[in-house]
Amino acid sequence: MVKSSNGRIALVTGASRGIGRALALGLADDGFDVVVNDIERQRDLLEGVAEEIRGKSRRAFALSADVSNKQQVTDMVAAAIARAGQIDAVVNNAGILIARSVDELDESEWDAVLDVNAKGTFLVTQALLPHMKARRYGRIVNIASIGGKHGAPLQAHYSASKAAVMGFTRVLAQEVGPFGITANAVCPGIIVTDMGRTNLEDPAIAQKWIDKTALARLGQPEDVAGPVCFFASDASAFVTGQTLNVCGGIVLS
Ligand code: NAP
Repeated sequence: MVKSSNGRIALVTGASRGIGRALALGLADDGFDVVVNDIERQRDLLEGVAEEIRGKSRRAFALSADVSNKQQVTDMVAAAIARAGQIDAVVNNAGILIARSVDELDESEWDAVLDVNAKGTFLVTQALLPHMKARRYGRIVNIASIGGKHGAPLQAHYSASKAAVMGFTRVLAQEVGPFGITANAVCPGIIVTDMGRTNLEDPAIAQKWIDKTALARLGQPEDVAGPVCFFASDASAFVTGQTLNVCGGIVLS
């Protein structure tokens, strides 16, 4: 069967592990060649993901960059376009979570979380816009969180960063729509990754989250891939400015 996104090329940030890795592999399964990004300290893992994608007979390029650093982002996007030829879709997935109560939250921790989660999404998107506008085609998928809607204790700064991603996405969709570019956000629920385990260390809390889902289970990274592949594909050509919960039914709307 011919894959629906054959010939398309996607860039996925924070792709060395967790949700980002699953998204990169899922996009490859859908026919995308993939540029995988992560921060330099994850270089070995990132190269491994690129190898997995090549094992699926897709092209893969591993590019390290800190998404919160404008110069590194500019260089990474230029290298991605030069090496891959074009970028059709970007998935702004890189993110961090530092669990801390508001009264104990250090200013530097607030800044770090906002810098990676919110500013990183902005910087990568902005660097790609001239390329996407010139081609009059683009799919921008921003990974937010249900935590950006209602949040949980110890995550005020994380929740603020993800609410920022959703607001950014809604306005971005209006600005880039006339250029044939869509922008949508995906809000994962509790997904079993190294970050997700921050919510799951206490078995009683893990069970509380399971009980909150309609599907009676936590999410796996692969659960996020289908919705992201949809937003990254031509199948979502008339869908923009939307925020989709991928949370097993914790949040119902
Ligand atoms: P993860 O397992 O911690 O993976 C995130 C990846 O992003 C890591 O490899 C991380 O590297 C990398 N990264 C961190 N800072 C970066 C930077 N400045 N530049 C480039 N890469 C950077 O997290 P995950 O659970 O897969 O989360 C992926 C996304 O989904 C995040 O945006 C997260 O907020 C969101 N999300 C996750 C859940 C969940 O339950 N897991 C729920 C809702 C939303 P280091 O580990 O070296 O920092």
